[in-house]
Amino acid sequence: APERENFQIVFVGHVDHGKSTLLGRLYADTDSLPVGHLDKVRDICAKQGKVFEYAFLFDAFLEEQEQGITIDTARTFFNWENRQYTIIDAPGHKEFLKNMISGAARAEAAVLLIDAAEGVQEQSRRHGYMLSLLGIRQVVVVVNKMDLVGYNEAAFAAVEAEYRQFLRGLHLEPQRFIPASARNGDNVAQKSAHMPWYRGATLLESLNHFVKPPQGADLPLRFPIQDVYKFDFRRILAGRVEAGELRVGDTLVFSPSNKTAVVKSIEAFNVPIPPQSVSAGRSSGFTLDEQIFVERGEIASLRECPPEVSDRFRANIFWMGKTPLQKKKKYLLRLATKEVVMELEEIIETIDASSLSPLTSKELIEKDDVAEVIIKTKTPVAFDRYSDCTPTGRFVIIAGYDICGGGIVMEPLKDEQE
Ligand code: GDP
Repeated sequence: APERENFQIVFVGHVDHGKSTLLGRLYADTDSLPVGHLDKVRDICAKQGKVFEYAFLFDAFLEEQEQGITIDTARTFFNWENRQYTIIDAPGHKEFLKNMISGAARAEAAVLLIDAAEGVQEQSRRHGYMLSLLGIRQVVVVVNKMDLVGYNEAAFAAVEAEYRQFLRGLHLEPQRFIPASARNGDNVAQKSAHMPWYRGATLLESLNHFVKPPQGADLPLRFPIQDVYKFDFRRILAGRVEAGELRVGDTLVFSPSNKTAVVKSIEAFNVPIPPQSVSAGRSSGFTLDEQIFVERGEIASLRECPPEVSDRFRANIFWMGKTPLQKKKKYLLRLATKEVVMELEEIIETIDASSLSPLTSKELIEKDDVAEVIIKTKTPVAFDRYSDCTPTGRFVIIAGYDICGGGIVMEPLKDEQE
């Protein structure tokens, strides 16, 4: 069988708006549950005199997984057409934010859930904000429990209009709003007979419409220099291809020094014939056609498509240090193989990562807070926007000798003096 492409989606919604039910429905309707699982849960419900709920299905499913192997239980998988979907259920925002910012998790798209009867809640707004903080741009909004509002088009349109306007303020433009009933299965895997006025895609079809962001070899070359070795009068630059492909004959530019040279050879150990190229994910060394001075920490790229270079940028960070992150204090920023002294120039907004509620302090960032900030580095650094290239768009902050925070680059900024 051809290998399925993996696609990661996070589901978020206010408690009780129907997330577990929706997931249960999605798994049941795509035949993704273990054989006999649906009947088993129905039986248990009958014996206990409980009304069957799709949410139980999912809860019981997770419990079973938990007993099997101790994996991250907030993740489950299902196959549909040519994809394997990894569903990241985010009950704890703190863990989710931390995992996303540290690179441990990578949601490529999000499904936001809103109860049609209850409408947009403060939590729904905070969820939108969380997605914008993480740079997740592919979003579908499910307006759930349409059965409670008589499958009424105007009720759906009102929720859509309100939430769309709110998300627009965050520069988030959802691909689609879907009127659904997770309980009854309307517009989840099957088109609803109750809502002929809705001509759009079902949730399942919408998942298939999400586009896989380019990654690995599909991105422009990024080769952060880890070490420079002198060897038989030659200089070998060593590191890892984080994105794209490195080829003999390529004209490279090194950032931030802005020096250029041509790749003369690729060096590999234990191979009889040196390779002509190396692609993303592989470590290797290479030599240049002329001796130029290049340092650890610089990023090699193709001349036509270099990274950004600046000593100021806007970023979203997660702080986990015991002492708060403060303005006017010096920290160390590590981005790819570069380490540079940094300072927090401005705190734009801070939120509590557990509750997602906004905090008032603009002077410091406490443990487990997430913040939108402006970072100033002592010397210019090469980097990318996280949305363009994750390995060179992500950094950690070091206080003393410990990694105390992580962040993603949102946007390069010009020097204030300019
Ligand atoms: P969660 O907290 O977001 O995971 O919400 P649940 O999936 O546990 O659902 C909360 C409650 O809403 C349960 O009683 C569900 O049966 C109910 N519910 C979920 N989806 C629907 C729906 O489409 N229609 C109706 N009427 N109730 C629903």
